Amino acid sequence: MAAETRGEARDRRPCLQSSIEAFQDVVSAAVIIPKEDGVISVSDDRTIRVWMKRDSGQYWPSVYHTLPSSCSCMSFNPETRRLSIGLDTGSICEFILSEDYNKMTPSNTYQAHQRKVSVVLFVLEMEWLLSSGQDKSFTWHCSESGQQLGTHRTSSWVSGLQFDVETRHAFVGDQSGQVTILKLEQDSCSLVTTFKGHTGNVTALCWDPAQRVLFSGSSDHSIIMWDIGGRKGTAIELQGHSEKIEGLCYASHTRQLISCSSDGSIVVWNMDVTRQETPEWLDSDSCQKCEQPFFWNFKQMWDSKKIGLRQHHCRKCGQAVCGKCSSRRSSIPLMGFEFQVRVCDGCFSSITDDDRAPTATFHHSKHNVVHMHYEPTTGCLLTSGTDKVLKLWDMTAVVS
Ligand SMILES: [Zn+2]
Ligand SMILES: [Zn+2]
Repeated sequence: MAAETRGEARDRRPCLQSSIEAFQDVVSAAVIIPKEDGVISVSDDRTIRVWMKRDSGQYWPSVYHTLPSSCSCMSFNPETRRLSIGLDTGSICEFILSEDYNKMTPSNTYQAHQRKVSVVLFVLEMEWLLSSGQDKSFTWHCSESGQQLGTHRTSSWVSGLQFDVETRHAFVGDQSGQVTILKLEQDSCSLVTTFKGHTGNVTALCWDPAQRVLFSGSSDHSIIMWDIGGRKGTAIELQGHSEKIEGLCYASHTRQLISCSSDGSIVVWNMDVTRQETPEWLDSDSCQKCEQPFFWNFKQMWDSKKIGLRQHHCRKCGQAVCGKCSSRRSSIPLMGFEFQVRVCDGCFSSITDDDRAPTATFHHSKHNVVHMHYEPTTGCLLTSGTDKVLKLWDMTAVVS
């Protein structure tokens, strides 16, 4: 029985379909073209390439275009086949791809930023082109007229950008670790609120408009799910990576979150479970279990003639405890801890094997990922690595 379970688990993994390895430099962004066996890539080697899958199963370029400087980011809109590319110089170049993806026509150029464009996002419904740059500004342009509509200064440079069409909220994640929510009007914006939860840079953002949740990934290795639709201020932590998060995609049809980190690991999270918030860490001058003083509590140490102990925290109840009262480790998947973490002895005995059932699956892309993209219509995931290779994965065994 156990062997069978392991066998099933072994089969449920991403299956490598193709690799594209023709780049002189790292591919900074790439997308899968929905309904076509195609990929669009932009690279530090200054090229924009459109790859179509041939009968041989190999991908061959149908478009190859070189820009004056390195491409840092892109946004592709399949309905209009509009491709917006952010450059290292701060400008954004736009092209329209032909229906057969064999040709590309320049349409617009925006002098959007003073420095490298870090994120670009085209919003068809508004005809807006949102972008942010290393010049610490967030701007939006009218994609019809090419005119700049508004701009907003950010406290540090922006590394993640998402937009909710229905309420016109922009989610802006930056290098200070915070996510700012701006309400955009045609030519002005107002600050709605700021989310602070990460101890490192925000490196990726993903918005699910259906459930109204925002996922943020960080260089602190964690992902936070901000439940905006629930209106209760719930923020759920997901701890399953041991390196910087490089990409987040939400498969809304199966309610699974796909995340990847720079060490190449891919984690698929089941978000169709009721997750719990992690507790605030409590402050105490002595162990909340055995009442032994912590080492800074000189008075109690003197009064009770006891040695001061180091303070730890139980990840489940948040109590301040000594090492002796928290000697056990457990995963707590419903709290987002897929790895073993410190728990107090009381909490340890309350965690059942059922509680320990993983809510995520762990995979490896075998390259150091800098970018990823998931296409729900084909169930295909694309990863770009520091090895200058693009890999295409069939995820249907995992995301289902
Ligand atoms: Zn204790
Ligand atoms: Zn506890």
